[in-house]
Amino acid sequence: MKKFHTVVIGGGCLGAASAISLARHLKNTGGKPESVCLIEKNVLGSALSIRHSGIVRSANADIVAAKLGQISTDMWLNLKAIWGVEIELEKFGALWIAKKDKNSTNEKWDQLAKDLKTIPINFKKITQDAANKICPDFVNLYDDEVFYHEPDAIQLDPAYVRKGLYEGITQSNVTLFEKEEVLRFKKNSNGNITEIITTNHVIKADYVINAAGPWSANLFSKAGISIPVSVEPVYVVNWLSSLSSKKAVMPIIADYVNRAYFRSWRDGEIHMHQPRKRGVHETSTNFADNPISVIGADFINDPTNQMQNYSQIKLYEEIAHKRFKNLNNTVFSSGYRSYFDITPDLKFILGPDSKIKNLIHCLGSGQAFKFAPVFGEMMSQYILKRGLLSKYGDSFSIKRFDAKYMKSFWSKVNGNEYSLYQENSSL
Ligand SMILES: Cc1cc2nc3c(=O)[nH]c(=O)nc-3n(C[C@H](O)[C@H](O)[C@H](O)COP(=O)(O)OP(=O)(O)OC[C@H]3O[C@@H](n4cnc5c(N)ncnc54)[C@H](O)[C@@H]3O)c2cc1C
Repeated sequence: MKKFHTVVIGGGCLGAASAISLARHLKNTGGKPESVCLIEKNVLGSALSIRHSGIVRSANADIVAAKLGQISTDMWLNLKAIWGVEIELEKFGALWIAKKDKNSTNEKWDQLAKDLKTIPINFKKITQDAANKICPDFVNLYDDEVFYHEPDAIQLDPAYVRKGLYEGITQSNVTLFEKEEVLRFKKNSNGNITEIITTNHVIKADYVINAAGPWSANLFSKAGISIPVSVEPVYVVNWLSSLSSKKAVMPIIADYVNRAYFRSWRDGEIHMHQPRKRGVHETSTNFADNPISVIGADFINDPTNQMQNYSQIKLYEEIAHKRFKNLNNTVFSSGYRSYFDITPDLKFILGPDSKIKNLIHCLGSGQAFKFAPVFGEMMSQYILKRGLLSKYGDSFSIKRFDAKYMKSFWSKVNGNEYSLYQENSSL
């Protein structure tokens, strides 16, 4: 039987980052880096971690998440010290656009800027003229909008990140099992996981890190615990833009007027996706629509379900036309259907499980690529020696989703819109 110090389940950016950080810290403290085993049922970065937008920004309404974002941005910029590898990135900053309220500003966003200043995160309100100056001339900005600049935001390319993850794994001597699926667990009388049963091995381990994203609910129900994570489908579209003029530097555009994120992409493409829905009722309905313990994200990862349909592309095109002058004769380049992994409050699940003491969770909840280096370091703090990052992580413990919380959450799916009465009105 194989024996490891830690088994990390899931080779997305969060699992790979956890394995790399832990192996490097073990080595530095006289341990064996190869005693960290990363198990991925397909190949590294083949799920959500290859189908995101590569945006790393700190501005976040949750102040702890904002702080973690700031620490993570520094880590991406100095990755060699953390993972032993460098990954190409672009420092184009981000422009946030909100609708003006009746006082000709956006009070909520002004408050956010104030809160972020206390961290401090560089996120400032700027004039329309200043916003025009940081955008290429093909970007439309309107008088009824208000603008905020986050100059320290950076952007990466998921394909380069994936390559960097492989290099980091190799350099750190992590034991990698690809095309191997974790099937179930054996526990001892204390309720700790002692054996991990995969398609190829039975493995003993002292610690288990769960980085299986939306598959966690199904997988860990076999260990008798409930992990509230589900999926929310989302579409991505890429358009070709002209390269005849000088290459323009475009900041990431977080467009909260049209509910869209845009970035420049692969030297000449404009990339777009819509953000997660934020309402509690919408989130709970999403959970109800995508039964969490059935197949995880396999349904959406199936190639036939990754296709875009014509009306979806046209809808995105209409939104993009409002923001860009040069997309009039749009050239569709590529697109796909992906998903966000979501939790009931749309925040991460981090740190030790409340029942299984040697199980540590590292789940993203929608927007977590940016946190990969900081979450990796946090996981090793949970296992080796607690520190500031694990303290931050405690704010996102799975404990918060206790029976009372979940009862109230499910009560939000009231089903009124599916009543016979409503049906009657549409007959
Ligand atoms: C359109 C879109 C744009 C996004 N843009 C951004 C962005 O700009 N910035 C940002 O920060 N975030 C972004 N995100 C979110 C980001 O993609 C995710 O938060 C991140 O990739 C999550 O990584 P992960 O490692 O948790 O998940 P995954 O990459 O899904 O990894 C989980 C892995 O676990 C494996 N697995 C599951 N079950 C098992 C098992 N039983 N045995 C072995 N392996 C198993 C799976 O195969 C998978 O590879 C975006 C998401 C979408 C959909």
